[in-house]
Amino acid sequence: MIEFRQVTKRYDSDHTALAQVNFALDRGELAFLTGHSGAGKSTLLKLIMVMERPSAGELVVGGQLLNRLPRRQIPYIRRHIGVVFQNHQLLFDRTVYDNVAMPLEVMGVPPKEAGRRVRAALDKVGLLSKEKMNPVQLSGGEQQRVGIARAVVNKPPVLLADEPTGNLDPELSADIMNLFSQFSQVGVTVLIATHDIALINELGHRTLTLDHGRLVSGGSPFQGGARG
Ligand code: ADP
Ligand code: ADP
Repeated sequence: MIEFRQVTKRYDSDHTALAQVNFALDRGELAFLTGHSGAGKSTLLKLIMVMERPSAGELVVGGQLLNRLPRRQIPYIRRHIGVVFQNHQLLFDRTVYDNVAMPLEVMGVPPKEAGRRVRAALDKVGLLSKEKMNPVQLSGGEQQRVGIARAVVNKPPVLLADEPTGNLDPELSADIMNLFSQFSQVGVTVLIATHDIALINELGHRTLTLDHGRLVSGGSPFQGGARG
C-alpha cells in the first residue's frame, strides 16, 4: 500500500532530510515511525501526503507512483489518506458532527450520504452521543477521537498519524492505539509517528526508526528497481 524505494529528500543541496529510505507497508499493516527530533519523520509523512516530492528514488502509494504525479491529481490522492494530528486541529466554532463532516463537504458528498458516513465514523470512535456538542466541551482524549473520526470519515485505505498521543496520559493513549489497531484489522494501512517509546515497547508493532534521515530499523532491504 505504501512503498519507498531508495527515497531521498533534500530541502536544499547540502541538507539531506531522508537518505535512500526503503520500506513497504502492506494493506492492513500497522507500524510506528520513530526517531529523534529532526530525524525526518515529518518529511516522510509529507512525502506520502504529496506535500513534498522525493529528490530521488520512487514512492508508490495505493499502486500510484507519486514522483511525477500531476499537481491537479494531488487532491484525489489525498482523499485516500486520512491524517491525524497531535493537536487534532478541530474547529471550535462548530459542532463535533460538523467537524467530522468537513472532508465530505469539500468533496461535495450529498448531505444524506454524508450524515450516514459521519455517524458511522463517530460510532467507531464511541462518540455518537456527542455529535451535537462543541469540541470545547470534550476532554482531550475525546477531542483526539473526533480528529480520528474526521480522518476516517472518507474510509481512506491509508491512515497517517503525527504524534497522536502527544498530549494524552498513558491510559488515553492506549485507547487511541486500540482504535488505530481496529482500523488496521479492517484493512487500513496505519503509520504512526511518535516519540512515545513506552507505548511502542508496550504494543510491540513493527517500528521504522529514522536516524539523521536514514532508516536504521524496520525497513526492507533494497530489491532493486529504482536508482537513488
Ligand atoms: P522530524 O519530524 O523527525 O523532527 P523533519 O522531517 O521535520 O524531522 O526534519 C528533518 C530534517 O529536515 C531536519 O534537519 C529539518 O531541519 C529539515 N527540514 C524539515 N523541513 C524543512 C523545510 N521545509 N526546509 C528545509 N529543511 C527542512
Ligand atoms: P458502508 O459504507 O459500506 O455501508 P460502513 O461504514 O458500515 O460501510 O463500514 C463497513 C466496514 O468497513 C466497517 O467494518 C468498517 O470498520 C470498515 N472500514 C474499512 N475501511 C475503513 C476505514 N478507512 N475507516 C473506517 N472503517 C473502515
